[in-house]
Amino acid sequence: MSADDCIFCKIAAGQIPATRIYEDEAVLVFLDIGPISDGHTLVIPKRHFERLHDCPAELLGQISSRLGKMAGAVSAAMNCDGYNLLCNNGRAAGQIVEHLHFHIIPRNVGDGLLNRWPSYTYKQEKMEAIAGKIRQNL
Ligand code: 5GP
Ligand code: ZN
Repeated sequence: MSADDCIFCKIAAGQIPATRIYEDEAVLVFLDIGPISDGHTLVIPKRHFERLHDCPAELLGQISSRLGKMAGAVSAAMNCDGYNLLCNNGRAAGQIVEHLHFHIIPRNVGDGLLNRWPSYTYKQEKMEAIAGKIRQNL
């Protein structure tokens, strides 16, 4: 998806309405139109990048430096028990809008959201092999 037909670029440019919470030169923060809990908020860079690793480190730093403040404000406003910070990358990971974004999702005890975590254990050799492969790609 190019920036030309990207819904979040259009929101950032003010061409499509959104319930805006905060913006500065680097980021825009607005309410998700299809929340999974009240206060579900999106933090996006104003510039178009599809995935986290496409985004230059300096800009990622700018986004990260805003995330804590935003999460704190969402959390205080919604008086929730906790929150998830979620960044889906790629269709397989649930990314629908191909413009990097971070979900801040207010959570409350017993809300039943996002509660499937099908964990398993590695054999040690497999763990070492995978870690090595990742290291080679740094
Ligand atoms: P993804 O699955 O790509 O991580 O999440 C995209 C999110 O963007 C979804 O939660 C969806 O509800 C939200 N979204 C999609 N289109 C719009 C829109 O036009 N306005 C707003 N505010 N949120 C949107
Ligand atoms: Zn975009």
